[in-house]
Amino acid sequence: MPQPIPRVEPVLAGRDNILWMIATAPDRYAVVDPGEADPVSRFLARSGATLSHLLITHHHGDHIGGVELLRQRHGGQVVGSKADAHRLPPLDQAVEDGSRIPLAEGMIAEVMSVPGHTLGHVAYRVGEALFSGDTLFGFGCGRLFEGTPAQMWHSLCRLRALPDDTRLFAGHEYTLANLDFVIDLDPDQSETRRLRESFIALADAGRLTLPHPLLLEKRHNPFLRADDPALAARLGLSGQSPTQVFAAIRERRNRY
Ligand code: ZN
Ligand code: FE
Repeated sequence: MPQPIPRVEPVLAGRDNILWMIATAPDRYAVVDPGEADPVSRFLARSGATLSHLLITHHHGDHIGGVELLRQRHGGQVVGSKADAHRLPPLDQAVEDGSRIPLAEGMIAEVMSVPGHTLGHVAYRVGEALFSGDTLFGFGCGRLFEGTPAQMWHSLCRLRALPDDTRLFAGHEYTLANLDFVIDLDPDQSETRRLRESFIALADAGRLTLPHPLLLEKRHNPFLRADDPALAARLGLSGQSPTQVFAAIRERRNRY
């Protein structure tokens, strides 16, 4: 039986980090990428809860800064990429592609290795929820700090292959800025413009644009469409490989 979407709540930290809290019991949460401890501690105090797990996607400070303090304060198993264990806080469970971490009765986090932003980056799938860290953002993707365009394109293709109704929970709220770039890159897209209007309305109402269905990413995220010949043609990149098209779009995003 497929796992349903777990109950997930956002905790905001830093400029635009979202620390996702996954309910694993009535009084326990798994936190994804706790870059800061205090906002998470305040959330737990409000709900009288403790931590069951601390799930790390990658080693950057804005994703791990709160791990040690939170573990001391609230307990919980620290889970992170085996490939990055030397640059992560001490791990209770070192995971790799295909690892399955039981979070609760009937709730498993499946690990996907998605190198590109960093070499050891992993994503977690919990039922139909995808915690993508800094690999896939709303209508964007992470910068290539360590990996190659070919690695990142391969990672994104694996995420793209997940079901349409998968819900995207990314590590940052970058949706509106990314949609501005998407429309600048490929202006003649009335559907993407309409989508942007609907997300602006959400943001104006003080809401997050995440999670949203992966189907929207498949349709509107140019980084997931580097193998679409029509897009390549509109970008003047006809005849180039998907990896080359991906790299060119990433370059334009870096300069945008
Ligand atoms: Zn990062
Ligand atoms: Fe980050």
